Amino acid sequence: MSGRKTINDFLSEDLIDITHLLTLALGQKKEQLYTDSNYVLTNKELKRLDELIQQRQQGKPFAYLSGSQGFYHLDFKVSPATLIPRPETELLIDIAIDLFKPNQLIDVIDLGTGSGVIAITLANKCPSWRISATDKSKEALKIAKKNTTKDINFYHSSWFDKLTGKTFDLIVSNPPYLAENDSHLESLKYEPIEALVSGKDGLDDIREIIQNAPKYLNQGGYLLLEHSDRQQKEIVELLKLSFVNIVTYQDLNGLDRVILAQVR
Ligand code: GLN
Repeated sequence: MSGRKTINDFLSEDLIDITHLLTLALGQKKEQLYTDSNYVLTNKELKRLDELIQQRQQGKPFAYLSGSQGFYHLDFKVSPATLIPRPETELLIDIAIDLFKPNQLIDVIDLGTGSGVIAITLANKCPSWRISATDKSKEALKIAKKNTTKDINFYHSSWFDKLTGKTFDLIVSNPPYLAENDSHLESLKYEPIEALVSGKDGLDDIREIIQNAPKYLNQGGYLLLEHSDRQQKEIVELLKLSFVNIVTYQDLNGLDRVILAQVR
């Protein structure tokens, strides 16, 4: 890339996410790009933009280039140590806030919090809920802590490992749930594999959570899980051993995505 290139020159090229990449390289808002479209980029800006274009073309998700991603009503820092929050996961928030009133004094835990989206969004929406969150990745926990000033109890814990003796009214989780050989994985190679894959059938972690959850739930407490669109039947069977009132919810594409159950 050489010569005197303007914002407009780039905007008229057919490059993936070019508008957003320009906002990053120039530190400007999208609207500014259009009003200053004749601006000639400095060599430093060109170099930065070129690096971003290359990384994006190699498949690096935009959220890892910008370091942030919107979720529900908030913006979250993300890094390659955390999954990039998906819109499907917002369904967990809607269901959770329908279960209890925002001013109820309840205990909630988000298992495998990653960048903290579930725990932090709930803490923002429901000021009286006492919220805890776990992750087995120290790097992820660092990001989650940076994403909030709310009083959330963070545990460096693999599922329930560090929670002995604690009980909750709601356990919520978006665990890894892809099978080892899932064809999606090729397009997800920039995201942490331990946040995506869970054994041969993608159910190893969900099985562990369902088996252990009853010990950590208060009477009548709920378990709320995200899962893949092909796992609903098997998960219902696993839940039936210790749970009642099992309800499945569909995502915006009409696919089974979330399951709610109440401990027996
Ligand atoms: N939702 C991820 C995806 O489909 C899968 C893993 C997860 O979120 N737990 O890309």
